Amino acid sequence: MDIKNLSLNPNYNILVTGGAGFIGSNLCEAILKNGNSVRCLDNYATGKPENIAPLLENPSFEFIEGDIRNAEDCLKACKGMDYVLHQAALGSVPRSINDPFTSNEVNVSGFLNMLIAARDAGVKRFVYAASSSTYGDSKNMPKVEDIIGKPLSPYAITKYVNELYADVFAKTYGMETIGLRYFNVFGRKQDPNGAYAAVIPKFVMHLMKHESPTINGDGSFSRDFTYIDNVIEMNVRSITGKNPDAVNTVYNVAYGERTSLNELVELLKEYLGEYDSKISNVEIVYGPERKGDVPHSLASIDKAKSLLGYSPSYDIKRGLKQAVDWYWKNLQ
Ligand code: NAD
Repeated sequence: MDIKNLSLNPNYNILVTGGAGFIGSNLCEAILKNGNSVRCLDNYATGKPENIAPLLENPSFEFIEGDIRNAEDCLKACKGMDYVLHQAALGSVPRSINDPFTSNEVNVSGFLNMLIAARDAGVKRFVYAASSSTYGDSKNMPKVEDIIGKPLSPYAITKYVNELYADVFAKTYGMETIGLRYFNVFGRKQDPNGAYAAVIPKFVMHLMKHESPTINGDGSFSRDFTYIDNVIEMNVRSITGKNPDAVNTVYNVAYGERTSLNELVELLKEYLGEYDSKISNVEIVYGPERKGDVPHSLASIDKAKSLLGYSPSYDIKRGLKQAVDWYWKNLQ
């Protein structure tokens, strides 16, 4: 994605934690293309060397292999940085249900290490990946930032605790923080493999192999699927945002429309069917509902629009076409 029109000063040094992962590597790539120096901190827990391999040739890119659970690694990574885009975490609700302890260690203790390191290194602003899972059991629709429910998984707790810590660090140490509550992000480089793969890359891989994707539940559950380039836009706007009211708060990062899983599979079959017509005839299988899943998720993006000028360019159809094209070319 080209972020030239977002007026990010190319002299800023930017740290992306979790930069070998799906969202982080896309952020590193876009920001490097803008001319900034980018440092990436990652321990390859779920990220992959191939996500950053092409970036390593760029002299403005620096990779630190390290763990956010280690305070020294965090300090080393934050030193000399103007902004932090903190993406490193263990994602996935089911992963946190299977191993809540490790999710907490990385997502809470690691987050706290990063906040302390960013404070001590004097970074200008700490922008971090929050999550729509913080809405928990709230029935409110669309989701507005101020109204949340009770968390439905250990993962959701960790992401909510991040927001609480960021708020307290802003109040007690005068830090600038912005939390971005991502809603089901998808796009190039998202990992289709493993037990905790996200639904879109997982379904794409099954369909490409003519295997039936399994929908958990009856397919009526819906999500505000958000294309990666909209997420990049919000991260950059979180750095460049000048309005004092825009800082020390959280934003929904979404497109603002919801799509059911049944509709999603039909779109994927249609778009992949343009590359291989047999895919249009693959049957769908239905399985039991998953624990911790919220039935519906739809964001209000009014706050991001009014305070940060967010103007997402990719709806689900435009984003899915791009993602399908990438998977077809890269994962055959
Ligand atoms: P990802 O798994 O692809 O990326 C996470 C990265 O963090 C990986 O590269 C991983 O190796 C790294 N990491 C994990 N533990 C680490 C540790 N202890 N030290 C250093 N690095 C570590 O996931 P993603 O989808 O790119 O998610 C990025 C962020 O966005 C995460 O904080 C996630 O919770 C959040 N988020 C993602 C989504 C989504 O839909 N993808 C939705 C809501 C929130």
